[in-house]
Amino acid sequence: VGEGGEITYKKIQSSQIMGSIQLGIQHAIGGLASKPERDLLMQDFMTVETTNFPSEGSNHTPAHHYSEFKFKTYAPIAFRYFRDLFGIQPDDFLMSMCSAPLRELSNPGASGSIFYLTNDDEFIIKTVQHKEGEFLQKLLPGYYLNLDQNPRTLLPKFFGLYCYQCNSKNVRLVAMNNLLPSYVKLHQKYDLKGSTYKRKASKTERQKSSPTYKDLDFMEHHTEGIFLEADTYTALIKTMQRDCRVLESFKIMDYSLLVGIHNLDEAQREKTEARKRTDSGQSDDENEGEPKKSGLNRTRSINRQRLVAHSTAMESIQAESEPIDEEEDVPPGGIPARNARGERLLLFLGIIDILQSYRLRKKLEHTWKSMIHDGDTVSVHRPNFYAQRFLDFMARTVFKKIPSSLKHSPSKRK
Ligand code: ATP
Ligand code: CA
Ligand code: CA
Repeated sequence: VGEGGEITYKKIQSSQIMGSIQLGIQHAIGGLASKPERDLLMQDFMTVETTNFPSEGSNHTPAHHYSEFKFKTYAPIAFRYFRDLFGIQPDDFLMSMCSAPLRELSNPGASGSIFYLTNDDEFIIKTVQHKEGEFLQKLLPGYYLNLDQNPRTLLPKFFGLYCYQCNSKNVRLVAMNNLLPSYVKLHQKYDLKGSTYKRKASKTERQKSSPTYKDLDFMEHHTEGIFLEADTYTALIKTMQRDCRVLESFKIMDYSLLVGIHNLDEAQREKTEARKRTDSGQSDDENEGEPKKSGLNRTRSINRQRLVAHSTAMESIQAESEPIDEEEDVPPGGIPARNARGERLLLFLGIIDILQSYRLRKKLEHTWKSMIHDGDTVSVHRPNFYAQRFLDFMARTVFKKIPSSLKHSPSKRK
């Protein structure tokens, strides 16, 4: 946060970054229309297109009231191909990215990255470091070899890599799928790595209205873990195993499983509570327990099909389960689960923050320490150790197959 309370990144006002990148992306997508669809070539992964955006406008660019800037689009043809792979039409991408102001998310991470969410909830734009951007560029051919073979994955789906340049400062950005729908109240959120070394949400984080907790917090909140139907459990763990193999092959470490939990029974109770309060004539506490969004917007979001194919948690793990149909408000795409009390949950999840490669030593110092703490001794196997520890934690501590005693708990009936 800069002077006057304005959010800044590298001393540039966030609102200026947001507006400028929307102009940049709009121009980049528009420019693609004139390039016919064709097979991908290796050099498509290396291309960088640069456009100048003078404030007064130019033959190709509109006038604007931000500072003059340059906008770089990395591998435009390659990313078009990837977007196509996930069924994202150019017009839809443009609409999501540019037709409404972006929303800024508060970032619990330590890296200082800024996150923007598109107004329709589909995409996240994250600022990344120079090294991370470079790494993504190198990763692209191999990463998408894998995605092409297997679009059902919990790995992040990258839809664009950009660089906004202003006053000789570079802001690198990746566009990816949003994992946590903002119109669903997430009662708990976890960023899990499978490490217990200092993995506790900070005090400041815990004081936020919707904190992101960590491994130790999870173990405290869910001593028995979270329960899934046997088939769902197997599908989820299999997907994570396959994904971790890919990450390990790229020597990637320090990634997390992001898990958002919507508790259906809790939501029901909150609703009843809220109704009671309004009925008794109390000034209603501005729909507490409900996401802060207009009713209309919210309904539209829920009824709407998600834009990005295979991008909900349920589709990512390719599992089928009985839909929870009794609830009119149930958001689509979550993985049905239960907590130890038998309450019905919906999980929204995916793997995030994968652009830390083994080579970025400095940044990974904490990761090294945590692995030595957990018994890692052979340094050449570190990505393997990381993946193994991650998978063990997910398969044994976080997720459990549902025991029959929980299956028919009273809370299932209305
Ligand atoms: P650090 O490197 O310090 O861990 P970071 O700045 O690299 O942090 P991430 O770890 O990528 O950030 O993400 C930080 C938080 O942002 C996550 O815990 C999560 O709450 C949110 N987030 C990240 N990616 C997504 C996504 N694709 N969808 C929804 N929320 C996300
Ligand atoms: Ca992280
Ligand atoms: Ca990071």
